[in-house]
Amino acid sequence: MDRLNNETQAAIAGREQAGGSLAPPLWATTAFSSTDPAEAACSAGSTRPSRFYTRYGNPTINAFEEAVAALEGAEAALAFGSGMGAVASTVMALCSQGDHIVAQRQLYGGTLFFLQTVCPRFGIDVTLVDATEPGAFREAVRPGRTMLVLAETPSNPRLALADLEELGSLRGPFTVVDSTFATPMIQRPLEFGVSLVLHSATKAIAGHNDATLGVIAGESDLIDAVWAYSTLHGSVASPFDSWNALRGIRTLGVRVERSSRTALALARFLEAHPAVASVSYPGLDSHPQRGLAARQMSAGGGMLSFELRDADRAHGVLEALQLVRVATSLGGPDTLMCHPASTTHAGLAADLQQSIGVTAGLLRVSVGLEHLDDLVLDLQTALA
Ligand SMILES: *Cc1c(COP(=O)(O)O)cnc(C)c1O
Repeated sequence: MDRLNNETQAAIAGREQAGGSLAPPLWATTAFSSTDPAEAACSAGSTRPSRFYTRYGNPTINAFEEAVAALEGAEAALAFGSGMGAVASTVMALCSQGDHIVAQRQLYGGTLFFLQTVCPRFGIDVTLVDATEPGAFREAVRPGRTMLVLAETPSNPRLALADLEELGSLRGPFTVVDSTFATPMIQRPLEFGVSLVLHSATKAIAGHNDATLGVIAGESDLIDAVWAYSTLHGSVASPFDSWNALRGIRTLGVRVERSSRTALALARFLEAHPAVASVSYPGLDSHPQRGLAARQMSAGGGMLSFELRDADRAHGVLEALQLVRVATSLGGPDTLMCHPASTTHAGLAADLQQSIGVTAGLLRVSVGLEHLDDLVLDLQTALA
């Protein structure tokens, strides 16, 4: 068959090794016995063996990886114990002392912290650019020295976009796009020519707040190279979490469709609210990169953020919520809100916080699967 649509892939991908079982088997094991010593030696020397030792591979983890590869249109995928495990392993697998990284300023707090504190200790130089400035990534690349260009779109927490076409056209460095906020249902960065797409699968891909996972997808050779390093880094995905995530993927299409629709309606409601100064959501006409959003995203996604006119009320609004829960994760069935300046991005210097729009009055929303009317009522009451 021709390439199936992603809604279909989500429902069926990753079941090749399931032996006819409709649900994937859970291989809760650390190791596999070999029939003879020669087979063990062969497994020990092979790339990505699935039945040798779980830090090297495991059939349940592999099934999750196959599903993500299918959704991203990739040759292969590799899972990690967390999104940060994917970030750290990928950076350390590809970069060495003396190398240079170009990354955008608008990044997940942990990724930014890793680039600013860990990379310098290993002699890896990092230049931060503004992803919303056309040509910014290209201009910062130092030919022969830049090994990696790292982008995140839409970005956490202001939903700034990086131009996937520009990133895909860069030659020389590896290009990695953290696509966590979009999920493969909304954008597929590999189609634009980037080297690797990365997700915190902890979020919408697993989608039920019950799995901590990271994943990258791309060409097999590159995935194998990162795998070789990752077996030593040790950020291995748990089979149980991979199993939960594969179940989550089955409904990714309907969940993303629903949360995008609700998020757009909530964004419009907030934009019209007198207590709200501005709303950041790629599906709104007021988004400063609306044209780019339309070119590379098929929907706005389930994440939005908004700024209160009175910044002093940010914690008060969170305290007044009754249905929406205050938590820093995202992409699950329940709507969550958080105050990035004092949580997800609290570790950053004040000037960097300001330059990426993490202001005292900013609140981030991960829109879940509740009925829109219930969410509007809760927000209306809390804002009042
Ligand atoms: C959460 C998140 C990460 C880190 O993932 P963990 O699974 O928490 O380690 C990386 N990037 C983005 C965009 C995230 O939202």
